[in-house]
Amino acid sequence: MAFAITQTCCADASCVSVCPVNCIHPTPEERAFGSTDMLHIDPETCIDCGACADVCPTDAIFPVDRLVGSDRAYAQINADYYADDEQALEWDPPAFPTSLPSGRRPLDVAVVGSGPAAGYALESLLTTNTRVTVYERLGRPGGLLRYGVAPDHLATRRMAERFAAHHLNPRVRVRLGTEVGTDVSHAELQERHDAVVYAVGASADRRLDVPGAELVGSLSARTFVGWYNGHPDVPQDAVDLSTERVTIIGTGNVALDCARILLSDPDRLAATDIAPHALAALRRSRVRHVVIAGRRGPADASYSRGELIALQQHADFRLVVVETPGVVAEIGTAGPNSKASWLAGVPTRPVAALSEPPTERCLILLFGSRATSFGAAPGGRIGTARLEVSGSEAAVDVTTGLVLSSIGYRGTPVAGLPFDDVTGTIPHQAGRVVDPVTGSLVPSTYVTGWIKRGPSGGIGANRLCAHETVSAVLQDAADRPPRRVSAGRSRGGSPGRST
Ligand code: NAP
Repeated sequence: MAFAITQTCCADASCVSVCPVNCIHPTPEERAFGSTDMLHIDPETCIDCGACADVCPTDAIFPVDRLVGSDRAYAQINADYYADDEQALEWDPPAFPTSLPSGRRPLDVAVVGSGPAAGYALESLLTTNTRVTVYERLGRPGGLLRYGVAPDHLATRRMAERFAAHHLNPRVRVRLGTEVGTDVSHAELQERHDAVVYAVGASADRRLDVPGAELVGSLSARTFVGWYNGHPDVPQDAVDLSTERVTIIGTGNVALDCARILLSDPDRLAATDIAPHALAALRRSRVRHVVIAGRRGPADASYSRGELIALQQHADFRLVVVETPGVVAEIGTAGPNSKASWLAGVPTRPVAALSEPPTERCLILLFGSRATSFGAAPGGRIGTARLEVSGSEAAVDVTTGLVLSSIGYRGTPVAGLPFDDVTGTIPHQAGRVVDPVTGSLVPSTYVTGWIKRGPSGGIGANRLCAHETVSAVLQDAADRPPRRVSAGRSRGGSPGRST
């Protein structure tokens, strides 16, 4: 009986490296890698050895005959991937970072950040002769794994344990509560360490620039996510759930996470490590409708299939699609490889349903819609979202007491480093930071994760990204003569706490 990969696939390709018969695709060497939601096991080739399941960091791989509930669909989803003859399935052996020359003192590396990008970088660095100091701004490590991943995505959150285990390595020191630019400068890190790797993620949001976006009750999805995950920067009273309808702008996986948390039975969430103040507020919540408004059609939604399937099967609410002009036809005629086809069979509702008092818990997908303004209710809080719907003459005014802009994250500058204000990233060449004005490399300075490539891709996408950066770190170290250590220089020495 073959194995199959299921919803929680993080696509970090750990499974690809151990498969003895090359039956997991796309591999990192194949063109489709990074553009598919997940990896797939070829049931015809799988020899049922289970090596992939043993190394899967998110427990996403099971024998087909042990799939239960909504996971049963993944037997077909895995097989369907191989029904497409055009998939390029060539195999190259996996590559590993360069090793440092033997006989040298260990390479001393600073990793700034402690989220998944930092975790994969640390894991990769520890495969060779290095010692690493992790600098983390917050008082607890984990970054996006602790404060970004939804609490009901238990398997993905468990990856934090895998990375935290590296913090116990005697070659690793962790300095919590230490912010680069405030507690320690980039120049000081360059002086203390042979290399500095920034894995600081994307800690701001893209802003929705429409009238009324500044009203009370208009929040970024990042604030909402930080609220339910207990992020120390988000006040416990940041979210008011006394409204019956929430509107979310954007159709990415973050939008789906927010909607799912808003509509899930709090008793189900109580079994997760959701922040206690958020659970208490959700128990009192009046929210019944969550409208996800996307400007493009169902073929171009940003969410991934696994996340949508989980909503279709969710026991606590109903998923529906609004019958905007052309949408039902687009779903009905979509080819099997179109995202629109994933919505076949999902019930539809007329546009008027957006204005009716909610009777049951519903997650409502509204495609082809653009928020043009938000209006205030008596008292000044947000009260309506005006949405233009493509193909309709009149705009729709959706009564809503909370709007979440879920239109993507954005990186922020690091003091002392170049920054590309358009992409919100630090300019680099294969992970080496570059000054865009002079075109020269910034000495011993590297980036990985969202601050390097922008805020896209799930947790596992950071593995190959870190691999490239760490390869650059090790290659540069191997190419240059060993650095002299000044007398009395102590390692670390910042004002931060160590774990
Ligand atoms: P995203 O996937 O980039 O989605 C952003 C959404 O915002 C898109 O629907 C986009 O629409 C819309 N948008 C952008 N600018 C807009 C504007 N000015 N007005 C209206 N809509 C606008 O971002 P995300 O949801 O924040 O997710 C970030 C990354 O984390 C993604 O790679 C995601 O897959 C990953 N993630 C994964 C999981 C998971 O696997 N479970 C969970 C959370 C996050 P257009 O398409 O029209 O541009």
